[in-house]
Amino acid sequence: MDKETLKSLLYKNESVADLAPEAMAEADAFCEGYKKFLDNGKTEREVCTYSETLLKEAGYRPFVPGMELKAGDKVYFINRKKCVLAATIGKKSLAEGFHLNIAHIDSPRLDLRPQPLYEEADLAFLRTHYYGGIRKYQWPTIPLALHGVIYRADGSCVDVCIGEKDDDPVFCITDLLPHLAAKQGEKKLGEAITGENLNVLIASLPVEDKDLEQRVKLNVLQMLNQAYGITEKDFINAEIEVVPAFKARDIGLDRAMIGSYGHDDRVDAYPALMAEMAAKDPAYTTVCVLTDKEETGSDGVTGLNSMYTFHFLQQLCAAEGVDYITAFQAAKCLSADVTAAYDPNYPDAFEPANSTYAGKGIAVYKYTGARGKSGTNDAPAEMVSYLTRLLDRNSIVWQIGELGKIDLGGGGTVAKYVANQDIDTIDIGVPVLAMHSPYEVVSKVDVYMAYLTFKAFCEDAE
Ligand code: MN
Ligand code: MN
Repeated sequence: MDKETLKSLLYKNESVADLAPEAMAEADAFCEGYKKFLDNGKTEREVCTYSETLLKEAGYRPFVPGMELKAGDKVYFINRKKCVLAATIGKKSLAEGFHLNIAHIDSPRLDLRPQPLYEEADLAFLRTHYYGGIRKYQWPTIPLALHGVIYRADGSCVDVCIGEKDDDPVFCITDLLPHLAAKQGEKKLGEAITGENLNVLIASLPVEDKDLEQRVKLNVLQMLNQAYGITEKDFINAEIEVVPAFKARDIGLDRAMIGSYGHDDRVDAYPALMAEMAAKDPAYTTVCVLTDKEETGSDGVTGLNSMYTFHFLQQLCAAEGVDYITAFQAAKCLSADVTAAYDPNYPDAFEPANSTYAGKGIAVYKYTGARGKSGTNDAPAEMVSYLTRLLDRNSIVWQIGELGKIDLGGGGTVAKYVANQDIDTIDIGVPVLAMHSPYEVVSKVDVYMAYLTFKAFCEDAE
């Protein structure tokens, strides 16, 4: 063999900058919309509201079971204010399958406990219970915002969002000064800050009346009552999420990356939703699902372990008079979730040849899970082959990998819940640096390649 033929035998994992330089400007433009999406949706509820507005603007109608649907029709359904389901009816019958894109819109955070408010040493705090896999030491000494809903005694609901406007106050969790942290510093990293330490500082001024007790706490309740008409008991009927108060910002002199809270997994949700909205007269019916509860294991009525997604799909089939088992067996799903980007600061955690890298395109994962591939959909080679050929046909820059070194840890995605329903599924996602931290980092070109991947899948007629 000559030199060139020999060279061509090697697989090379190249960057988007080298392979598709023309995509850089498009990625930059696409990510302006993504940053807006991040800033407008820091909770699953907010992402739902924002997505519904976008869907309506794009001509989607609310899905009603039994409604008549024809090719090209666009419908959507919101599951309990926390999950988005959107579909564009294809030219082919659902009996030939459908193309399903899934991502999740809940992110690791701190939730308020049922009885959160207390006062100590003339300071008022909110107790929290962490949601999802956080590294607790990362949460003190950063600006925090409160987002959520409170149901009042009369059943009416009030939205809460404090800490996002430029003139809003923010909140924080304190940490020990280094001068007095000798003992704390000897503890293991995972034990230095405990769940019981994650109390959010919310106020420091008392009510005027000196005869009263818990005067700072009462002052907080007074302010909340005046602003929202609530009492302490109403915290019971609330879902308040404590999230970082930062906005999404460009990272780097070249502005090629984005730093933000909640890339996991809005960085897949936004491209999936945009691709769904761009679908026009697709061959196969396209369905986009933005789900909740992935970070806590997908249980619950808004998680993918529930039937809500499959009920929606069954109802779509019923509307067309198609047996849903036949439709499921012929369907395909891209289950999108973020992956770990190789971090040269921590090379010990990764196996370079099987890692995915920020800037090298959409990541394909045959499997996730832990130990001997437990807790994963291990996509069949046929499905991997379908996807990699689709990506190559559409000149989309992609890479393949695993989460990190074997037996170092692991992680699951929703792919297995879809595959368990007899739907061919494969994991894809955008690589993230500092995943699950309050400030995650992604490469803009990878976000754009995710969009092109969903789009190609929606448009695929094979
Ligand atoms: Mn995720
Ligand atoms: Mn996650």
